[in-house]
Amino acid sequence: MIPGRAVIIGSGLSGLTAGVLLAEHGWQVTILEAHAIAGGLMQRFRRGPYWFDTGFHFITGSDPDGIFRRIARRLGILESMRFLPLDEDSQYRIHIPGEAHFDFPVGLEASRRALCARWPEQAEAITLFFADLVGQMGATQWLDSIVPAGSPPPVHDPHDSVATILERCGVSGRAKEVIGCLASILAMKPERCTLDLYAGFAGTALAGSWRAEGGGEAMVKPLVERFRALGGRLALKRPATSIQWQDRLVTSVTDAKGEVHPCDMAISTCHPAETLRLTGIDGFRSSLAERIQATPDSDSAVLVYAALSRPPLELGRRHHFARMTTAENPDGDLYYLSPSNFHDQAEDQARNPYLEAMLWVPCDAVAAWRDSVAGKRPEAYEAWKDARTREILAAVTGLHPEIAGTITRTWASTPLSVQHFTRSRNGAAMGLSHDIGWLGSEPIPRRNRLKNLCFAGQSIGHPGVVGTMIGAFILVENIVERDLRAEVAAAAAPSAPLHGAQAPNR
Ligand SMILES: Cc1cc2nc3c(=O)[nH]c(=O)nc-3n(C[C@H](O)[C@H](O)[C@H](O)COP(=O)(O)OP(=O)(O)OC[C@H]3O[C@@H](n4cnc5c(N)ncnc54)[C@H](O)[C@@H]3O)c2cc1C
Repeated sequence: MIPGRAVIIGSGLSGLTAGVLLAEHGWQVTILEAHAIAGGLMQRFRRGPYWFDTGFHFITGSDPDGIFRRIARRLGILESMRFLPLDEDSQYRIHIPGEAHFDFPVGLEASRRALCARWPEQAEAITLFFADLVGQMGATQWLDSIVPAGSPPPVHDPHDSVATILERCGVSGRAKEVIGCLASILAMKPERCTLDLYAGFAGTALAGSWRAEGGGEAMVKPLVERFRALGGRLALKRPATSIQWQDRLVTSVTDAKGEVHPCDMAISTCHPAETLRLTGIDGFRSSLAERIQATPDSDSAVLVYAALSRPPLELGRRHHFARMTTAENPDGDLYYLSPSNFHDQAEDQARNPYLEAMLWVPCDAVAAWRDSVAGKRPEAYEAWKDARTREILAAVTGLHPEIAGTITRTWASTPLSVQHFTRSRNGAAMGLSHDIGWLGSEPIPRRNRLKNLCFAGQSIGHPGVVGTMIGAFILVENIVERDLRAEVAAAAAPSAPLHGAQAPNR
């Protein structure tokens, strides 16, 4: 397609990635962002000396030769990122009720070996499952570079659930629970998560899940700089209010200040229900409009941010998963870490130690207060939030008594915060549900009735840092008709260490 004017709605990772790639290929790009800060779910916020992340904890596939670092190198942002050291023998700690925890080391093969060592009687079954996982990654464009070349395709149908495939391989009991619980990285249960989705995020997570200094902003800031250096315009506090179209072609996008942005191409990265609102129902094929309306949203989260009086050293430089049972949420998935522990400056760690903990909850948990306004939420909502905060912290301190008594202050966010900051329908953390039967094996198409209206973002393809960036590459590849995947593959990490990007971190 001949380069022209593009308007991108949303400045999350998908919007920024698409913006940089299009601008590189001669497009004149405007990104409209509703919020005052760029980054969508990669935004951070500050309370006193603490910087907290809203939708970022780790970058899957960020091992030194991993897919994320190749993508970042291709986008020209790798050199400005600094990856923080993590415990390579224990990047994920899974807390098992009544038993010793299990540690996933960095690497798929190392993880397989660790599981076989813990459950030797299931070693064969675990190995079968990992062969399927690796095979599925090998069969997936973009992920094939992570696994050994020529890995045979999976034996089982990758559209089946991880729970089903584990069973068919003969994995059972605690081993099955431990492997399955990684589905919770993106708010899914193993019974509802296909192997192909699991390969995309749990597979890349096992390959290596580093944190970056500066959290989500470590990617957003250099992407914004690169976008602007390429001549792109980022318009903040400019929610798109309508998409104009004629004869099945988008002609312009109007923002809340009334500015009309004429365009030859529009890309919407927000929740598809918001895009539907912007075009009006006739802008969509009726089958797609119905599908968007009928597809449930993914779960959302309550996040607790806690300032501590001393570093929670026992938490280490790792990610923790645990099961959490409450009256409201009998089978809750809890995730927590201490971001300050990842900093190598002992002084920094000691000065501002803190904790982030999150529990996936259904969006409807806060349905009663959905129409309330941020900053003026009713007392009942604040009481609900306080109760969840106490429960989450009780679960974490129950597992780590060293933290009890060190919490000096807490803040929390809920599905209403996600809704307020990203306009995701009902505050869904990952946009539309990616469960089997919904988006799992059948993603929403990237184009629709309006020929020059394209979609990107977490509802359309894979969620997550790597998933949304890959989704933006796939979309732009089709627009600019170039093999961007080959360019990413060629952007392998150099053997010589680069400033901040490689050697010091491993
Ligand atoms: C609690 C939580 C923890 C997470 N942890 C991780 C993690 O550790 N690792 C990982 O890989 N992934 C994680 N994720 C997932 C990851 O954050 C998301 O999948 C990804 O950031 C989504 O990017 P996006 O561009 O698709 O959407 P978003 O980041 O939601 O961006 C969409 C943007 O569109 C804007 N917008 C909406 N409507 C309009 C409009 N009308 N006009 C203009 N702008 C509009 C929004 O303001 C927003 O900025 C987490 C998510 C959550 C919620």
